[in-house]
Amino acid sequence: MAAVELKGLTKSYGESVAVAGVSLRIEHGQLVCLLGPSGCGKTTTLRLIAGFIEPSAGEIVVGDKVLSSPQRTVPPEARNMSMIFQSYALWPHMTVAENVAYGLKIRKLDKAAIEAKLKAILSTARLEALADRYPGELSGGQQQRVSLARALVVEPETLLLDEPLSNLDANLREEMRFEIRRLHDRYRYTTVYVTHDQAEAMTTADLIAVMNSGKIEQLGPPEEIYARPRSEFVARFIGGANILRGTALDGTQVSLAGTALRTTGRTLQAGRPVALSVRQHEIAIAAEKPQSLDNHLPAVVTRQVFLGSVRDYTVALDDRTELRVTAPPGRDIAPGQAVWLHLPAEQCRALAEE
Ligand code: ADP
Ligand code: MG
Repeated sequence: MAAVELKGLTKSYGESVAVAGVSLRIEHGQLVCLLGPSGCGKTTTLRLIAGFIEPSAGEIVVGDKVLSSPQRTVPPEARNMSMIFQSYALWPHMTVAENVAYGLKIRKLDKAAIEAKLKAILSTARLEALADRYPGELSGGQQQRVSLARALVVEPETLLLDEPLSNLDANLREEMRFEIRRLHDRYRYTTVYVTHDQAEAMTTADLIAVMNSGKIEQLGPPEEIYARPRSEFVARFIGGANILRGTALDGTQVSLAGTALRTTGRTLQAGRPVALSVRQHEIAIAAEKPQSLDNHLPAVVTRQVFLGSVRDYTVALDDRTELRVTAPPGRDIAPGQAVWLHLPAEQCRALAEE
């Protein structure tokens, strides 16, 4: 049984469409990330799932119950969902333990049950030593763990997280990604996690739904999204790929700046325009002319930055297309110098026609 199913979910505000026909099936116990740039409709989708807003069209079904439709929307408090916002909103006058236990108290559980559940969640969230502190006496990461513990302790069927780490500094954010995944593995609540951060989605998600302009552009496990982006948008957004434009010569080869390149990804149609995505670190750069020119392109270095562990090159092809290339740091090729780029055929992914 699907835990949460979105069917053609749409939300319009006047003329503007925030969510445009999103269909997504989230299995019980799965963690799905909605990943996309600011304004693509992530928060609106989450608020629709939580029941804070009503859809203009489409449905949200949980199990066999329709929770949202334009005709009828079950209120948030009747949904058995917990939502965590960007700001943790802990109660400042309550201790950690009181904050976490609050949801159990209003559900009128008996004292022994509350004690037992509280103890278990404080231990899992590594908060035992902090139980008697007030939020003002905690670091950002600790406050975030309290807010997670508070959401988890009521055993929601569904957990909704909206950019939960965006208020933390970079180191802590990285640590908390693993923490969220660890808690998910422990409790297996069906989770919808909203973020604009690729690494956060990669670390936490079973499935990533890449969103663009209110729509899901691609849905799949992190590795598949990364290895086989289907559109230019996904290729650019995930892993900053270069996009090259050429014309198909036959089923596999593309003519690009006067050179034939072999490609992968789909069967091409001779004469059609083709966009290829190639990642920066998949391109090799050399100052000397190689023996075989198979899948090589001539270029000129336009810029070069030494970043310590790598060198980041910008190069221009004969047709002035610019590419980014990440190379080992040892070899230093100066701007203005002619180079050869090797683009392995298995990394030249032909994207779907727009
Ligand atoms: P994200 O969370 O991906 O940044 P949102 O879901 O918050 O994006 O917003 C999606 C689009 O819908 C944006 O263009 C936003 O301006 C618009 N939007 C969101 N809420 C409202 C609202 N209450 N009224 C009008 N427009 C809204
Ligand atoms: Mg948002």
